[in-house]
Amino acid sequence: MPRWPDPDTKSRSLYDRALNVLPGGVTRVAPWQPPYPVYAQSCKGAWITDVDGNQIFDLINNFASLIHGHAHPAIIDAVTAQLSHGTACTMPTEREVALAELLCERVPAFDKVRFCNSGTEAVMLAVKAARAFTGRPALAKVEGAYHGTYDHVEVSLDSRPENWGNDPNPVAFVAGTPKAVLDDTVILPFNQPEAAARIIREQGARLAAVLIDLMPIYTGCVPATPEFLKAITEAARATGAIVILDEVISFRFGYSGGQGVFGIEPDLTTLAKIIGGGFPVGAVAGKEKIMAVFDHRSGKPAVASTGTFTANMVTMTAGLVGMELMTEEAFDRLNALGDRTRSKLSDAVRRSQYPAQITGHGSIFKIHTHSRPVNDYRSAWSTPEELADLAALQAGLLRRGFLISTKGNGFLSTVMTEAELDSFVDAVEGELRILAT
Ligand code: PLP
Repeated sequence: MPRWPDPDTKSRSLYDRALNVLPGGVTRVAPWQPPYPVYAQSCKGAWITDVDGNQIFDLINNFASLIHGHAHPAIIDAVTAQLSHGTACTMPTEREVALAELLCERVPAFDKVRFCNSGTEAVMLAVKAARAFTGRPALAKVEGAYHGTYDHVEVSLDSRPENWGNDPNPVAFVAGTPKAVLDDTVILPFNQPEAAARIIREQGARLAAVLIDLMPIYTGCVPATPEFLKAITEAARATGAIVILDEVISFRFGYSGGQGVFGIEPDLTTLAKIIGGGFPVGAVAGKEKIMAVFDHRSGKPAVASTGTFTANMVTMTAGLVGMELMTEEAFDRLNALGDRTRSKLSDAVRRSQYPAQITGHGSIFKIHTHSRPVNDYRSAWSTPEELADLAALQAGLLRRGFLISTKGNGFLSTVMTEAELDSFVDAVEGELRILAT
């Protein structure tokens, strides 16, 4: 069991060193809370070994990117074999073609794929493509939905109740956000079909794109309803705006991505995480006529998208092997494991007598430390006391050797077993019982 937060661990002394050279002592902020992060020594399968020699069951899986857990043997073998033949070979490679072919074969809405290095970059490129294609400036996004750290999507991420008007208004998330960015960002309420469609219609000819996620993690981690998806895609198309589906996370929902499961056909899709097999990756994929903005053959492409390490051989190799392992059966098994885990967690919540609830879909869950119905960002909002309980839950689980995100999320991998997840459920019940007293 991790000895965190004891003051005499190797993790503590590493953090003290790090405070001298890294702002806040870290580069990765999301998976830990004070007084210091647990430092990893190595990771294998579903488990991390920390620098003090403790084993931690990792339900974050590098922020949902490791769908096969850590160091999957098939991926490591392929990457190891690749390394002696080069890492980034200046010229294009067959691997890049093969991964793009795999994606286009699986997803009807993909005619072409453009690779990049992260989900943030993918979203940025998709928004630029939509602007170039439509000649319009504005972007509509959902209140509370995270799409990476590109300026125009870092809006209304943590809008607070005191800012809530009738319609969601754009609120800067980052200090120094230019007013022009806020002016060109339109905020939609999640899962409210009429209101969202009305706002899209009102913005009319200004909108280049409507950016949506099938289950934004920070809007309560509840899936979009069919009515909501229908209303906003119809309204977007009626105004001539491009529909961009952010599948950076939801691509793990199924063989043809979340769009195959939810029955939606976007104009552009952004990808990252699982398609890189554990290495940095991003991609924009979509309809031929829009993807043509990236085509350089006319001389100058409408949207420049280069990047020193884009489609490098290591990422393409790992991504290809990782995605090939994700057969339809593998998705079914992983989703069934997710359904089972959420159901067992809900039973554990009931037994604990603590007013928590579990949301999520497929291989993703979220633990809320309140029991009010959750449908969107505002209804998922937690009071400071509820957030303190969530922090106590995450800390308690870490002391028992289980890592979930500070937001209460977990992302399963294909190498996790029912027995391991049952132990996790027992640990959650134990911690909730403590909170209930
Ligand atoms: N879009 C969504 C839905 C995400 O969850 C994330 C990251 O978690 C991003 C975009 C940004 O991806 P990246 O961290 O690869 O830049």
